[in-house]
This record gives sequence, structure tokens and C-alpha cells, in this order.
Amino acid sequence: MKFSSIAIDGPSGAGKSSLAKNLAKKLGFVYLDTGALYRAVGLYVCEKNIGGSETAKIEKCIDNAVNNIDKIDIELTYTDGTQKVFLNGHDISEKIRENHISKYASDVSKIPKVREFLLRTQRESADRNNVVMDGRDIGTVILPDADVKIFLTASLEKRAKRRYDELLEKGYKDLNYDKILKEITERDEQDSNRSAAPLKPAQDAVILDNSDCESPDGTLERALKIIKEKLPYVCIR
Ligand code: C5P
Repeated sequence: MKFSSIAIDGPSGAGKSSLAKNLAKKLGFVYLDTGALYRAVGLYVCEKNIGGSETAKIEKCIDNAVNNIDKIDIELTYTDGTQKVFLNGHDISEKIRENHISKYASDVSKIPKVREFLLRTQRESADRNNVVMDGRDIGTVILPDADVKIFLTASLEKRAKRRYDELLEKGYKDLNYDKILKEITERDEQDSNRSAAPLKPAQDAVILDNSDCESPDGTLERALKIIKEKLPYVCIR
């Protein structure tokens, strides 16, 4: 059976995960948050007291997992639209969203061995399900034959403001907009300029700039229009 796949790529804070989640619900597809996979590896490394730039040590962790000397088992589950992320059986859903883990995720994601390690999980999911996947290299590397590719972006200032509001809503105190803007700028640079699977739109991706969308619904509406054109037979709930 041939399954359908939708790839959503783009920079941090563009609203990829909200869009991907909403699309999965509307289409009855499985949602795979690939950023959570890199975050889980970032957390694993952090908890081993290894620095994000200690590439040889990070590679050794991956080798140990591949050779069954150690375990890096990552599992994503969804119940009533809520995602949970487990690392070796422990719920790490909250921990991986902490700011220092965002940086760790970006650091480990530069390492080809880490990307290779996570590639199989991502491809297997698309081989077995209709999927919406969001990340940085879904349309370019993971699913080059995806049925629909959307590159979701927004201005740097809008993305920083959205991240600020999101953290505020989660109850974070002492937030500093300029600091968030700086972190997002640095992460964009690191993700776009790395040699392994840099963040860039696939040649056949549709660019969706949602800087002017005030709510996720506006982005969803535009994305559904793109999907209906590419997959006219798909059933929208
Ligand atoms: O999407 P999210 O912000 O959770 O991703 C965390 C980090 O993981 C990103 O900054 C990026 O460096 C990395 N990532 C990646 N490729 C993906 C998904 C995420 O390199 N497909």
C-alpha cells in the first residue's frame, strides 16, 4: 500500500509543529515531530555531562547505542492530540522543551552520525503510515518524494514574539524578548549553515510565509489549500 506524506520544513518559531499537528488531525494522518527526536538525543548527551561541541564523545554515544552497549530508545506517543516523548522509558516531554536543550538539539543535529541514527525512525514512520512530518530536512533528505512539501517561514521578529508568548503562556518568568530573538537568530544560522542537511527549502517546496497570520487557523487554511491542489483525493475532516 502506498501511503501519503506531507513534509513541513522551516526555521524555529514559524509554527511548524502547530501546523503539522492541525493537519494530521484534519487529514487523519500520523504526526511525527522530528525536532523532538533531536531534542531527546540532546537531552541524553546533556545528562551524560557531555558538551554540545564534544563531537567525538557524542559520536561514541551513538556508536554505543547502535552496538547495543547503551540504549537510546526514543518513543513518541499521542493521546487525544497530546504528544509525549519517552527516552529509555522515561517521560522527557517537559525536559526537552527547556531552552538549553534547544541549543543542545541544534548542536547534536550538526553531526552526520546523529542524523543517520535518527533517519531510520523517520523513514519507517512514513513507510507504515500516512504522515505529516515537521523538521528542517524532511523535504530535502528524509522524504525527497513527499507528496506535498511546505516550507513554512515568518519574519525573525514575528517568530521571536511567538516564542516569547508561548513561553509566557507556559508560565516562564523573567522572559527577555531580545534574548529570545538572539537565540532564534543563532539557531537559524547554525541550522542553515551546517554541512549536514542544512535548513533550506526543497526545490519543489511551496513557500508559505505566515508573518501576517495572527492565529494558527490562518496558516492551516493556507496549507490545506496547497494540499488540496497536490492531493485532490485526500479526505479533510
Ligand atoms: O523543531 P525543534 O525546534 O524542536 O528542533 C530542535 C532542533 O533540532 C533544531 O534547531 C534543529 O537544529 C534540529 N532539527 C534538525 N532536523 C530536523 C528537526 C530538528 O536538525 N528534522
